[in-house]
Amino acid sequence: MVIQKFGGTSVGSAARIKDVAALIQDGRRKVVVLSAMSGTTNSLAEIVQALNKGDKDVVHTIVDDLERTYAVTVEELFQSKAFKLRALEMLEGHWSHILSFTLDMFTRFEERTVLAQGELISTNLLQLYLEEQSVYSALLPALDFMRIDQQGEPDMWYVKSNLERMLKENPDVDLFVTQGYICRNHFGDIDNLKRGGSDYTASIIGAAIKVDEVQIWTDIDGMHNNDPRVVKQTKPISRLTFDEAAELAYFGAKILHPTSIVPARQASIPVILKNTLKPDLPGTIISNEPSGDFIKAVAAKDGITAIKIKSDRMLLAHGFLRKVFEVFERHKISIDMITTSEVAVSLTIDTTEDIAPLLEELRLYGKVEVDTVQTIVCVVGHLLQEEPGHAAKILGALKDVPIRMISYGGSKNNISILIDSHLKTAALRALNHGLFNLEA
Ligand code: ASP
Ligand code: MG
Repeated sequence: MVIQKFGGTSVGSAARIKDVAALIQDGRRKVVVLSAMSGTTNSLAEIVQALNKGDKDVVHTIVDDLERTYAVTVEELFQSKAFKLRALEMLEGHWSHILSFTLDMFTRFEERTVLAQGELISTNLLQLYLEEQSVYSALLPALDFMRIDQQGEPDMWYVKSNLERMLKENPDVDLFVTQGYICRNHFGDIDNLKRGGSDYTASIIGAAIKVDEVQIWTDIDGMHNNDPRVVKQTKPISRLTFDEAAELAYFGAKILHPTSIVPARQASIPVILKNTLKPDLPGTIISNEPSGDFIKAVAAKDGITAIKIKSDRMLLAHGFLRKVFEVFERHKISIDMITTSEVAVSLTIDTTEDIAPLLEELRLYGKVEVDTVQTIVCVVGHLLQEEPGHAAKILGALKDVPIRMISYGGSKNNISILIDSHLKTAALRALNHGLFNLEA
């Protein structure tokens, strides 16, 4: 059994929904997880804002817009009048539900109910379309099995037992459709897995029923070795480990949120990133098995601030780092990169908040220097294994780029290099040529 998750743009129009319907009919037993049609969750969030302000007019305008957009989708998606009518009736139910909320009874519960409508609608549309096409499928309501506990973590036992029961009740069905993102909380109220949570849904379901693979379908052919906005030529990465994928996700590869793959990773289920527009391409397979390529990708994160604390007393002193770290902890600012010398420590943060109070406190422990507008360039792969020479290759490629900090050995999966942001383009291009032999 497999999971196939389709994001908002992959179900963003009638034509795209038809593509999805064709893609999912490959004969394998599966659960299809859908996001809301692209833009819908944003509109619903605007409705929530307007309701919170008591701005009924705005609510009506947004619902009217949604109604018009979806009317076009229905017209293009269905063939028969009967199915068009059924779809419009279904939609009408959702719109009037949204419009039934008023300011005096608008709480967090109603908020989440409004936000849930996008996925309820997209799955209803696909299910109806499959029915019109005489494709045998069943809708699995996420609100009947997806649940988070008091800490907001998926209640795996609940998800597993309910899903297994529902699958057992439908032994003749090979194609199940369900909503991403939405769930119930420990009170049993409608809730959600936070924005972008549909990938998380796919991964949770995959882990709960132990599928062979979780496929995440988007509009990009997997993860690429470099940033296509900066360099001329990039190539898709065919295999990554979960560790490597997590590093890349943190360093700006927006394609996948690191936490969303945790359940799949814990259950050792491969996650495959595929492109709906080019379904024949292999995409990127993320699994626990390391693959041949030692250096997989480079990524960059802007908006970094570097702080150096230099103490005369650090020499042979113990407890200095603890004191410095405690200052960051008190200010709830997390540290990304660290390098130390015998007399100083340099570290980076990526907060946009005012750090003046933090700096003031740090000055108690030494001389403080701050560099803003920095970029971390991160090289990801299996860098500390078997073959030596990776670090030399990376630094060799960067021979013309002044480097502010290097972090190597923190994990075997990355080398991070801090540079001035205006050197980012030069660095990514040099690495693209030097490490991958691709056009800079
Ligand atoms: N529809 C939700 C969002 O836009 C969830 C998702 O697409 O993953 O955040
Ligand atoms: Mg989305």
